[in-house]
Amino acid sequence: MAYYRDPFYGSAPAVTIPGRKKRVVSGLRAASILLLLGLLGCGNGATQGAKGPRFNAERAFADLRELVALGPRPSGSEGARRARELITSRLGQAGWPVREHSFQAEPPDGDPVAMVNLIAELPGARPGWILFGTHYDTKQIEGVRFVGANDGASGVALLLELARQLAPERRPYGVRLLFFDGEESFGPYITPEDGLYGSRALAEQMQRSGELARTHALILVDLVADADLGLEDDQNSSSQLRHLLQEVASDLGLEDAVAAGGSRAIIDDHVPFVENGLTEVLCLIDLRYGDRTMPGPFWHTARDDLRAVSVESLNTVGTLVVEFYKRLTGALEDGGAASTR
Ligand SMILES: [Zn+2]
Repeated sequence: MAYYRDPFYGSAPAVTIPGRKKRVVSGLRAASILLLLGLLGCGNGATQGAKGPRFNAERAFADLRELVALGPRPSGSEGARRARELITSRLGQAGWPVREHSFQAEPPDGDPVAMVNLIAELPGARPGWILFGTHYDTKQIEGVRFVGANDGASGVALLLELARQLAPERRPYGVRLLFFDGEESFGPYITPEDGLYGSRALAEQMQRSGELARTHALILVDLVADADLGLEDDQNSSSQLRHLLQEVASDLGLEDAVAAGGSRAIIDDHVPFVENGLTEVLCLIDLRYGDRTMPGPFWHTARDDLRAVSVESLNTVGTLVVEFYKRLTGALEDGGAASTR
């Protein structure tokens, strides 16, 4: 059994994630990446980052605005369907084929809900996948017209811009962009039975099909546009990738964005992948929304709108993700630690 003190709801009881078959998936081997991190060293990242495409935060923020303009987008709603349409259209324009992964979610209290994950993928020169994920649903909150500018739109906006950056690139590894449905719970809080529906369904499917064993890493983004940005040093993410993120942030002069967060174990869409055996995961999240308390005064409230998010924060996280991706693929290519599976 793995126990996580629930970071989402402060005083609520700790949530127990039921233990599943833990298996060690190839991923990156710890020893290899530690060695590679050493080889990459500090200080050369800024020059690496100066080459190649830059994250275009204005363009990303335009997508964030459009998603917010759709209104609430909870699972099973017309808003969610229109969000999928927008995402699919943008990905198509950027050259990414998209497929739907449909499944039935079974909330503990209530009827089954038809849900749809979106999966965009482009091949790479070498075997194996690098996954980027986020959720596109917004929480259904009684009496609140919840539009999720940060919680629902910001991650999608970041991945759509990443799609435009990566499509024309030479990709050493295949890239999959995952847009999860049903991250939000129907009840007030995420529990082992309620919430993370899309990521659970997909992680289980990828584990059964063997695809997870051919996955090098998952980078998850959620709540990444808080105007008062402070990324959590998530304890449910792998230590190697957390270390690499710190290094990238330091080399880009963006360490404040990371240092402003705390250090808790975050339960989000990366957790089902960990439970299904993926070792190398990194969750980029600011769960101190509106101030430096957790989860912050704006989290799951009507204040999660355009006033609370900023293009600068989206730019900071987007820039970190682009550079992180370059370093990660560079490390994998140099080491070939996981490329033979
Ligand atoms: Zn949420």
